[in-house]
Amino acid sequence: MESTPARSQSRLDSYVDRYAARTAGMTASEIRALFAVASRPEVVSLAGGMPNISGLPLDVVSSAIGDLVTQQGPVAMQYGSGQGVPELREQITDVMRLEGIEAHPDDVVVTVGSQQAVDLVTRIFCDPGDVVLCEAPSYVGALGVFKAYQADVVHVEMDAHGLVPEALEQAIASVQASGRRIKFLYTIPNFHNPAGITLSAERRPRILDICRREGVLVLEDNPYGLLGFDQEPMRALRADEAEGVIYLGSFSKTFAPGFRVGWALAPHPVREKLVLAQESATLCPPQFSQMAVSAYLANHDWQGQIKQFREMYRERRDAMVSALEDLMPAACQWNVPDGGFYVWLTLPPGIDAKSMLPRAVTARVAYVPGTAFFADGYGSSSMRLSFCYPTPERIREGVRRLAGVLEAEMEL
Ligand code: PMP
Repeated sequence: MESTPARSQSRLDSYVDRYAARTAGMTASEIRALFAVASRPEVVSLAGGMPNISGLPLDVVSSAIGDLVTQQGPVAMQYGSGQGVPELREQITDVMRLEGIEAHPDDVVVTVGSQQAVDLVTRIFCDPGDVVLCEAPSYVGALGVFKAYQADVVHVEMDAHGLVPEALEQAIASVQASGRRIKFLYTIPNFHNPAGITLSAERRPRILDICRREGVLVLEDNPYGLLGFDQEPMRALRADEAEGVIYLGSFSKTFAPGFRVGWALAPHPVREKLVLAQESATLCPPQFSQMAVSAYLANHDWQGQIKQFREMYRERRDAMVSALEDLMPAACQWNVPDGGFYVWLTLPPGIDAKSMLPRAVTARVAYVPGTAFFADGYGSSSMRLSFCYPTPERIREGVRRLAGVLEAEMEL
């Protein structure tokens, strides 16, 4: 007799009948399963989005941490405030000023990476069945959070200029007509993960106008905004709308992800709820990490460091784009990102990125199939290619291997 998925799952996990219903939405992402394979040294991984921190001045970080222990150890190793270290929150407002945001440190909540901020915002807003609007495609880690809280994701089309305002209007109208509640629009306006696209300056006020008119809160997730290659940072959505936008930032890409320090900037009442949610989740974000990041910001030319990161990532973007132009079959399409870590590549018709992946891994190259970035099974003809981590030479070699696999696939 054929077993149902639930039965075969229960054979593997004897606790299956006891879990809360929401755990059904907690499944390992396609990226997680890939990491084990992609991290083997012989594989060129164009899959993960790990920041490349090889350029960080370890001596500076090490002496900042040493001083922290010797000079402020009893505070740094103690519990702290649920909202985060005041001095760091002040410095975070300086970081956000680079994108036109004028904010008060009281409205900043420090989180365990911006990933936890996505979780806390969803925790305080979403009941099962509520709708979250997301770009198509969207960040896999946020989709995982929305699923875990049993929210329904409705994707909204993007084009080369970012989220399409008309498509947003249509999506809002059709969700409203179905009687469901939209809790927020989750958007990554700059150097999108995974699409590599940036929302144009012309569209930003239009998106804000629509959301204001329709009463839709915006969750602006902006971990890559300072990593533009050739331009100054774009003005954040939050810079022009304080009441209707919750802004998320992170030190993972501009400093180092291991400290796990990110933040949310939220309207006053929302900020209070976020602090309560943070206290019940962690009591407080890690005091030691926050003080280490704060010391780094205070004593190091962090803006100069970001400039170096931008130059390094631009060199890698150039390596990837020129390898794609030289080596990929003509029927493939991709965008040229102005910043961030990712290129979104669309395959010729009839080629499925997910089913091709095992053959790519055998050929020692890895990528993330597009389906990982959709809540509804779309994206099978696309893939995300990350250029952040490997050297330019490895990137070219990875693209060469990928082109070989694809050519073989097209001959099948
Ligand atoms: N949002 C986006 C769009 C991301 O790409 C990432 C990390 N890849 C995060 C949030 C989470 O980053 P962190 O928790 O390290 O700040």
